[in-house]
Amino acid sequence: MAKVMIKCPETGKLVFTGVLADKTMLEKIHIRQNKMGRCSACGKEHLWEKEQAILQD
Ligand SMILES: [Zn+2]
Repeated sequence: MAKVMIKCPETGKLVFTGVLADKTMLEKIHIRQNKMGRCSACGKEHLWEKEQAILQD
């Protein structure tokens, strides 16, 4: 399993969304927008789409 990361729109840093998935699971996510908890880089809450997801082991 990998950590699903997105690039924080505020800081450009990679932040963990709180979701653990592998590539296959990620492709099966049908929810268009996912809400993540407080961003560890900027402290805001972001919505992310799976197209933005970056898997990090
Ligand atoms: Zn952020």
